[in-house]
Amino acid sequence: MTDCLFCKMVAGEIKPDVVYEDEQVFAFRDINPKAPTHILVIPKQHVATLNDLQDKGLAGHLLQTVAQIAATEGIAEVGYRTVINCNNEGGQEVYHLHLHLLGGRPMTWPAG
Ligand code: 5GP
Ligand code: ZN
Repeated sequence: MTDCLFCKMVAGEIKPDVVYEDEQVFAFRDINPKAPTHILVIPKQHVATLNDLQDKGLAGHLLQTVAQIAATEGIAEVGYRTVINCNNEGGQEVYHLHLHLLGGRPMTWPAG
């Protein structure tokens, strides 16, 4: 999608701090981190929201990539949080599906 910030990152037009990439997914550090580790994991293909995610294989791969990156970041055992904001009341600001990986500090609950 030409007018999508995260598609532009996948295309190399905007260069974030990339931490992982394969054929299906792309991961980079959040520009405004909410925790010491804050990484966004996205599908390379444009999927606007979680409601639009049809591909179960891709869904699983996105989740496994979060866990894999948590391990390489050294936070898998102490713990971390994965968040998907969906649509307006879910707090979604960028309409290209992304999984937040947050860690490096204790998380509170419930989320705000
Ligand atoms: P949402 O609120 O849609 O779930 O999260 C969007 C996230 O994208 C936010 O945490 C925000 O900081 C991050 N973000 C927005 N613009 C950019 C950018 O240009 N580069 C990077 N690396 N992250 C961004
Ligand atoms: Zn996109």
